[in-house]
Amino acid sequence: MPYIVPVPDELSKPFWDAVQEKRLIVQHCVACNSLQYPPRPRCLDCNAEAMDWKDVSGKGHILTCGVLEDSHLPVRAADQPLNLAVVTLDDDPRINYYANLPGTPPFQVTVGAAVEVTFEECPDGSLIHDWRVI
Ligand SMILES: [Zn+2]
Repeated sequence: MPYIVPVPDELSKPFWDAVQEKRLIVQHCVACNSLQYPPRPRCLDCNAEAMDWKDVSGKGHILTCGVLEDSHLPVRAADQPLNLAVVTLDDDPRINYYANLPGTPPFQVTVGAAVEVTFEECPDGSLIHDWRVI
């Protein structure tokens, strides 16, 4: 499946650098210890700016899912129908990711199924995170 190459900005660069090392990280608030993703300039819980990064397990489960059959993105045309799921992270259920679930045929995804992070290659050779059912 061809993935769209991410374009990191200053805030998300540490996240994407970790993905290139096959690590999943999220922002961690130094003031209140909460985790958040995607990266933001401030903590959503206490508004502190003092944020660092923390490795997470890469384990989660399917929160909801559907099948994409009519994407107008040329990069997705050959892969339709395509899973489109929301994964919630076991480390913090408030953290969600979109997933295509490579290896799982469309219409065979079960809400609540356990998943783990996987790292897939983009057309330019860089890595992007996705999730697979375990
Ligand atoms: Zn905080």
